[in-house]
Amino acid sequence: MAFTHTINQTRNGKHPGNGYREGLGMPETETGERPNFIVVEDVAEGLIDSRAAIEAAVRQILVSVGEDPERDGLVKTPHRVARMYDELLDGYDKDLETVVNGAFFDVEYGEGEMVVVAEIEYNSMCEHHMLPFVGKAHVAYIPRDRVIGLSKIPRIVDMFAHRLQVQERLTNEVADAITEALDPAGVMVVVEGQHMCGSLRGVKKHGVNMITTAKRGEFSANRELRDEFYRLIGK
Ligand SMILES: [Zn+2]
Repeated sequence: MAFTHTINQTRNGKHPGNGYREGLGMPETETGERPNFIVVEDVAEGLIDSRAAIEAAVRQILVSVGEDPERDGLVKTPHRVARMYDELLDGYDKDLETVVNGAFFDVEYGEGEMVVVAEIEYNSMCEHHMLPFVGKAHVAYIPRDRVIGLSKIPRIVDMFAHRLQVQERLTNEVADAITEALDPAGVMVVVEGQHMCGSLRGVKKHGVNMITTAKRGEFSANRELRDEFYRLIGK
């Protein structure tokens, strides 16, 4: 199976080390002082060391808000934040072909019947504020002649969720990826999300739940299919 879909947002230069002091995110200058702000660049390879760069940037934020980045509670914070971003944004390092890894199965399944994978918990980060949004994704597809391994759909959701996102695009990207991987007769994705940027700022309403949908193929044309999907996921 060849995928035409390519992910070209891969972060470069994930090679830790480079002589930066662990936990501080800053290289020492010749005099042993750490400057307040630097651009971390691996000149030899022409690559940015992403983790060291994030550590340096977080340290700069701490200074900028008036904090002392050397005090006990904060001294390792840039390091922790960079590690956290590694995890929360690891979707940039993944692509559809690797995630699916050929886990297709030929099945005899009722003509036009749907497969539903519901209640897929995800966490993502909104690209406007870099604050988390979390919730559940529900996916339905109508196979033509093959299905995909059960664990693969949550992994596809995670791959796209672990990038800077808006919920609408996340929903569409999951639908398009499943279309591309399986060539099903139809796909529908419903994503529910609670956005920290909405509950912390501005409107300050807790528990605001945003729902987005994406429909492809028979789900676009057939309202009964959509209603059946909503009924199966209890909406
Ligand atoms: Zn936001």
